[in-house]
Amino acid sequence: MDNQKNVMVFIESRNSKVAEVSLELLSAASRLAQELGSSVEAVALGHNLEEELKALGHYGCQRVYYTDDERLSHFTSVPYAKTITRIIKQYKPGVVLFGATTMGRDVAPRVASALKCGLTADCTDLQIGEHKIKEITYENTLLQIRPAFGGNIVATIVSPESVPSMATVREGVMKMNLPDPDKTVEIIQEPCVIDEDDFLTEILDIVREEKQVNLKAAQIIVSAGMGASDPETIGLAKELAKVLGGELGCSRPVVDSGILDKEHQVGQTGITVRPNLYIACGISGQIQHRAGMSEAKRIIAINKDPQAPIFALAHYGIVGDVKDVLGKMIKAYKTKA
Ligand SMILES: Cc1cc2nc3c(=O)[nH]c(=O)nc-3n(C[C@H](O)[C@H](O)[C@H](O)COP(=O)(O)OP(=O)(O)OC[C@H]3O[C@@H](n4cnc5c(N)ncnc54)[C@H](O)[C@@H]3O)c2cc1C
Repeated sequence: MDNQKNVMVFIESRNSKVAEVSLELLSAASRLAQELGSSVEAVALGHNLEEELKALGHYGCQRVYYTDDERLSHFTSVPYAKTITRIIKQYKPGVVLFGATTMGRDVAPRVASALKCGLTADCTDLQIGEHKIKEITYENTLLQIRPAFGGNIVATIVSPESVPSMATVREGVMKMNLPDPDKTVEIIQEPCVIDEDDFLTEILDIVREEKQVNLKAAQIIVSAGMGASDPETIGLAKELAKVLGGELGCSRPVVDSGILDKEHQVGQTGITVRPNLYIACGISGQIQHRAGMSEAKRIIAINKDPQAPIFALAHYGIVGDVKDVLGKMIKAYKTKA
């Protein structure tokens, strides 16, 4: 098989657990590899991760190149970038994917720069296709799709002349496959070829701040926009979320105005969610918001403007004052419960 077509995913681990974004990327990589007729590979670094890595097979990973060293237990930029670069040079995949997380955003540009190849940040879609420049046609090229110019256009970016094509993808954007426990992964141990001098930083202590809100995992989200941003209406949205056993989300201006914390923000620069039910309260439905919630299974929109773009996406629309509607919904659900 032609190695240069393989799709490789950088496996992030935090607290000795593989990050969800890596499983989402493996699911996306499986789809791309199927189109390319190639394999899904992964590169993992850490310490005592072997048991955890076995689960990568369930998500379609066929081989993982694993460097085990106590010094790699916690992420540090230079040792990680050097190790990943070495593995890519050795196994020559055609595509390499990173999560657009703090870790991915730190390490991916270092690797791209060392390999002198392109990197597209924050992709929202990845496809395999053809690209023509003048007389040359590049086939089976990675089409790296992402919003550009403030979300006003969707750009397709290609880098067919530099191998591998590299991209970062935000958490929650790629749909995770259902795990198949019958699928296994081959774990290939790789030596740790890093000098002590490469460890430029020393980790003295790790302080973890637990997330108060887990929007990504929520099955029901009640989301407040600027039309529901006064304290009383936000309180009602929060109460409805509680009554329904869901979480409170919001649009970006609600965060920018300091009303709610960023961890509540849904959208292109917030969190991508796929709940069973999304109730958009006083949200106009601009493209940047829709980018984060359009794949909700059911969408209810409450807006006083019947022309609001959110209604084009909603399965059920309620035209009215959000405060009145929320009050009635809370009463109805409480009575039903
Ligand atoms: C690069 C970039 C990234 C962005 N990323 C994000 C992102 O991640 N997430 C995001 O949400 N936005 C994002 N935005 C901002 C986005 O473009 C919109 O400005 C934003 O989504 C609008 O928020 P909103 O719908 O709450 O407010 P508005 O657009 O002000 O809409 C308020 C809505 O409430 C309705 N309303 C008002 N009063 C009532 C009432 N009493 N009852 C019922 N309805 C009422 C109005 O009719 C209106 O439709 C981004 C923008 C840029 C340029």
